[in-house]
Amino acid sequence: MGRFNYFAHTFSYFFYVDNEGGLNKINSLMEILTNKEEVREKLKNNPLQAAHLLRLNGYGSINYECACGETHDANGKDVSCKGSAKPFKALLKCSNNFVTMIKIEGFFRKKAISEYGFKASIMD
Ligand SMILES: [Zn+2]
Repeated sequence: MGRFNYFAHTFSYFFYVDNEGGLNKINSLMEILTNKEEVREKLKNNPLQAAHLLRLNGYGSINYECACGETHDANGKDVSCKGSAKPFKALLKCSNNFVTMIKIEGFFRKKAISEYGFKASIMD
């Protein structure tokens, strides 16, 4: 009996992790922009404001799916906030030089939804 419980516990743990990863992939509707014009068009619809207008710290880790293909913590030290947008969006740049616009949802537990992203170098 004890052994069965242990197995069930382990199984549900792995299932949870796997399910979470799978969900993130399926729900990923992030648009990857490939040129300056597309970025300008996006920012025209959702003008950027100063980064400090959006306070993300104080919520702990907010993991988001980055345009580089990795998952980063929006409050991590290798991620910098380049700007914010209404109502609760942040433009984040990671150490791989990719920029991602995320939308923060949730009240007590923050969740980041990646809207679009691009390689920072296309803006050079
Ligand atoms: Zn990244």
